[in-house]
Amino acid sequence: MNIAFHTLGCKVNQFETQALEILLSQKNHTVTDDLSTADVIVVNTCTVTSVSDQKSRRIIRHFAKTYPNAKIAVCGCLSQLNPESIREIPGVALVSGTSDKHTFADKIDALSSVNTESFTPDKPLSRRSFEQLPAGGLHGHTRAMLKIEDGCCNFCSYCIIPYSRGSVRSMPMADILAECKKISVQAYREVVITGIEISSYGRDLSPRASLEDAVAMLCSEFPSIRFRLGSIEPRTITETFCEKLKSFTNLCPHFHLSMQSGCDETLARMNRKYDTERFFESISLLRRYFENCAITTDMIVGFPGETEDEFSKTLDFIEKCAFSSMHIFPYSKRNGTPAAKMPDQITKAEKSSRAKRASEIAKALSENYLKEQLGRTLSVLFEEVCDGFWSGHAMNYSRIYVKSEENLKNKTLDVYVTSLFRDGLCGEIVS
Ligand code: SF4
Repeated sequence: MNIAFHTLGCKVNQFETQALEILLSQKNHTVTDDLSTADVIVVNTCTVTSVSDQKSRRIIRHFAKTYPNAKIAVCGCLSQLNPESIREIPGVALVSGTSDKHTFADKIDALSSVNTESFTPDKPLSRRSFEQLPAGGLHGHTRAMLKIEDGCCNFCSYCIIPYSRGSVRSMPMADILAECKKISVQAYREVVITGIEISSYGRDLSPRASLEDAVAMLCSEFPSIRFRLGSIEPRTITETFCEKLKSFTNLCPHFHLSMQSGCDETLARMNRKYDTERFFESISLLRRYFENCAITTDMIVGFPGETEDEFSKTLDFIEKCAFSSMHIFPYSKRNGTPAAKMPDQITKAEKSSRAKRASEIAKALSENYLKEQLGRTLSVLFEEVCDGFWSGHAMNYSRIYVKSEENLKNKTLDVYVTSLFRDGLCGEIVS
């Protein structure tokens, strides 16, 4: 069969879609980007906000209506939490959740001979083991993802994910090593270490392990691959973490620390497990140990009860942190979470206005960071060409452009940075 995929949501969903592509290719199906020729369209859904729910449902309906000859198979966080609401959409042939992708792939395979297949999503909070899936991707990407962890036990007050993904389960260290060996013989030059909450990596293993143990093992075993960490929690960053990892030149000095708010009162209502002092300690440690590192973050504006005074504290704090890049999200209500029932919900107009104010600061900070790169030589992994310019990412995740007639795809080269350019920097190859 020809099978097309559509993924909503986070990097873990992207990773799991790639794994499904690999599993179904191994069963002799063809992965296609052309939906009009697809026999099956797999939609991997997201439920992180009510807007994500609407988007997921809308795209399933759209595919069912536009491609009536294709069978629609749905998996992911929304279909885990609310499978009935997906099953009732006409055209949906198979509904799964967030676990057991191997069985899901078997059931998709069976759709070549039957019209519908049934699958009963499990109870995420009773999951105890990590489902190992093939890492990497299919389409000659430069960057592979390696999921080492699933689930979360933090129960932030705005987040539904622990209910759809269950509690923390980690991939054993030996399996990480084996999976990365497979990636290393493919053409990938960079591996992104991902999971739902990788800061908790290893707490369920016996003997216990930590994120820094896994990263140190990967960096030392695979010196020709550069490793980039997915989103981490501020508590991960300790002297021990920095001491253990500081000497690995193949660890990207790019750390994405979820901040969410720069005001202690708001952080407490969010049920985040740190305050601004601890957060600032983390980024200070990173800057002390990893020269020229990029620190990026996520932030929610207009959380219930966020006063103008609280928001101003956050604006001051983001300036102090000098992030190199920020993702700013207006708070979006997610039914089933404590925050959805909190008083003093902020109006849509006010949330948009706050997002705009925060974005202006974020843009200036980002430009400051880029300016700091002028005159430096950065190691760049090249990914694509557009209008005669090859572009790729430096270790610190700055986007770098160079003018070149050569095919630079998948090459790692040193670039001397000369100017700001488009969404990043321009430079000259020096090696
Ligand atoms: S850390 Fe918080 S926001 Fe992130 S997945 Fe866990 S509960 Fe959700």
